[in-house]
Amino acid sequence: MKTQKYILVAGLFAVVGLMARAGVTITVGHLGNDDARPGFKLPNVPPPAPANAARNAKVAIVDGDSDPAGGGVDRLTDGQLPGQADDPEQNFFFNAGSPGGRLRLDLGNIQTVRQVNTYSWHPGMRGPQVYDLYASTGTGTDFNIAPQMGTDPAMCGWRLVARVDTTSPNASENGGQYGVSIADPDGALGKFRYLLFDVSRTEQLDGFGNTFYSEINVIASGTPAAPAAMEPPTQFTVKTADGKCDITINTAAAPELQAWAHDRLAPVLAEQYPKIVAILPSAGFTAPDHFSITLKPMGGVAYTSGNRVVANSVWLKSELKGEAIGSLVHEAVHVVQQVGGHGGENPGWIIEGTADYIRWFKYEPQSHGADLVWLRRLRHFSGHYDDSYRITANFLNWVSEKYDPNIVTQLNAAMREGTYDASLWSHFTGKTAPELGAEWKADIEAQLAPTKASAPEK
Ligand SMILES: [Zn+2]
Repeated sequence: MKTQKYILVAGLFAVVGLMARAGVTITVGHLGNDDARPGFKLPNVPPPAPANAARNAKVAIVDGDSDPAGGGVDRLTDGQLPGQADDPEQNFFFNAGSPGGRLRLDLGNIQTVRQVNTYSWHPGMRGPQVYDLYASTGTGTDFNIAPQMGTDPAMCGWRLVARVDTTSPNASENGGQYGVSIADPDGALGKFRYLLFDVSRTEQLDGFGNTFYSEINVIASGTPAAPAAMEPPTQFTVKTADGKCDITINTAAAPELQAWAHDRLAPVLAEQYPKIVAILPSAGFTAPDHFSITLKPMGGVAYTSGNRVVANSVWLKSELKGEAIGSLVHEAVHVVQQVGGHGGENPGWIIEGTADYIRWFKYEPQSHGADLVWLRRLRHFSGHYDDSYRITANFLNWVSEKYDPNIVTQLNAAMREGTYDASLWSHFTGKTAPELGAEWKADIEAQLAPTKASAPEK
């Protein structure tokens, strides 16, 4: 029996790192980092199909661990695509540092499978795909529904369909968007109920060789096709007013905010983003030309990681007439700041103070969210200039008006370049931050002091 299996394997043919059963073709579409855009419009490989047999399939991890930073296995068949190159929550990937793992797709019944298409996207080594695809009807007496790593699926009721490896020996070519289409041009790949993906990491030089898999499509005949038009649009992209940046907003997990995101939020961000970019320049810096906002129920308000903003849809919904849009202008400032790359050495109070300064003093001064009107409503004014957010925003505004109109721009440029140092304050204003803080505090306290009943000024 062993010999027979061996002959089957010997009958495979190789095409640039790809092997398949005779008659099976493996087509790879690849777009490098500069060309990849949301939607997987790849050469040679069809884009993900909204309706396909995988949408109704059950996906399970047979062996290995999901990376908790990812979106989990359901992401593989949910019809949702990543909004950008590094979008962990829209992808499934095996845990960092692990060798990969095995995934099983159960179509629910035996179907004629014509095509299996897999999609992945990441700027580095987590872009390329390396896996062996097995398939089975699940009816053999020797069928093992969950063969662990180390067990050859071909020995327990599975048939090897294809071996996929889209890594390039030229390291600089790895990364970007990949689509792999496994098909038999003469007909179908076969009749199967189960597919098994034996997934390997692409490299083991560091822990980050597990591919960001975005979507798996199974094109089968006999699957009732769900009409694509029934799917509400859950993700859209708008261009900023200057045409230089794409903003993708995903409301898949918050459909109740879809209309608001499209009609209210997106136009404001499209107009404000270029203005924020103009406030925060630095030598040789080009602001991100794409960022994404995902709205979903979660704790807190919002956070930004690189070019990815995630915001709490429940909180936003309660603030539609209040702070919803302003809070996302604040996050858009973080996207432009790009000050996260220096080992966390940049002071958080300046980062957050800057985001609130631009939000409250440039975007919506009419809301009086951080000025004297707001301070008057505070029960207690601490006077700590480094209290972050609105307090620091007020301090930065005060320093801008009194000492250096470019202080916010200059501090951010230094943080972005990794050269921030407390001595910059004296360099730009002639005073240290604590000296400025004391002066600001005294000034604000004088303005907050209850006005004594006085005669009208003459
Ligand atoms: Zn913030």
